[in-house]
Amino acid sequence: MSALNAPALSLTNVTLEYPDGDGTVTALDRVTMDVEAGEFVSLVGPSGSGKSSLLAVAATLVRPTSGLVRIAGEDATVLSDKALATLRRDKVGIIFQQPNLLASLTAAEQLVIGDHLRGKSPRAAAARAAELLEITGLEGSAKKRPHQLSGGQRQRVNIARALMASPSVLLVDEPTAALDHERSESIVRLLRQVTDEFQVATVMVTHDTEFVPLTDAVATMRDGVLAAAVPALAAAGAR
Ligand code: ADP
Ligand code: MG
Repeated sequence: MSALNAPALSLTNVTLEYPDGDGTVTALDRVTMDVEAGEFVSLVGPSGSGKSSLLAVAATLVRPTSGLVRIAGEDATVLSDKALATLRRDKVGIIFQQPNLLASLTAAEQLVIGDHLRGKSPRAAAARAAELLEITGLEGSAKKRPHQLSGGQRQRVNIARALMASPSVLLVDEPTAALDHERSESIVRLLRQVTDEFQVATVMVTHDTEFVPLTDAVATMRDGVLAAAVPALAAAGAR
């Protein structure tokens, strides 16, 4: 399959086992999932069912015990650690529940620091950062440091930062867990907007099934097994 036709994110028969005393825990049990560019998938399921493990494997932060992980058509499972780090840096945006921002940097600086590591010119990085701060509704906050921002604004900086490299895949774990209802909805709407605008393949772990209709499809994890994704509107209608 050529990289152009391949889904942006593709997991095939992915199994992940963790050592557990004398035995193992199967966090992911033959999980298969394809997410296309511009597609926004909700990932739901009980605590301990393997949602974060799925994101960790998709992010290439954890190598699966078996199975195939492809990012933008590239087989991640055969890459060296170094090549994997480059693939992750350039193709994968990761957003966790708590924005992990550096206390001493302004919002704009949080964004450009990664591009500096990627070897992009400071001018190009600054232009990209300004564009993303505007898209995420932070144009007036470029010079603010984390303690001067609200929780919702910090999560917006986190989202903008994850998009700096123009990733193919955006992986989001419980982005609204620390936010009130109104801010949560605006964060999910922003994720919808950037998924469309930048044509990234977005997977969002969420316990807020209320926001599922803003996404395209919902996939359910249970005991490490992923049920086939169903269209989000059908899932909402069935409730
Ligand atoms: P969820 O995000 O749905 O709550 P997780 O992916 O965190 O689920 O966990 C899935 C299973 O894998 C659980 O049984 C959990 O205890 C186990 N697990 C997760 N991370 C580790 C780890 N680093 N070491 C050992 N077991 C783990
Ligand atoms: Mg989790």
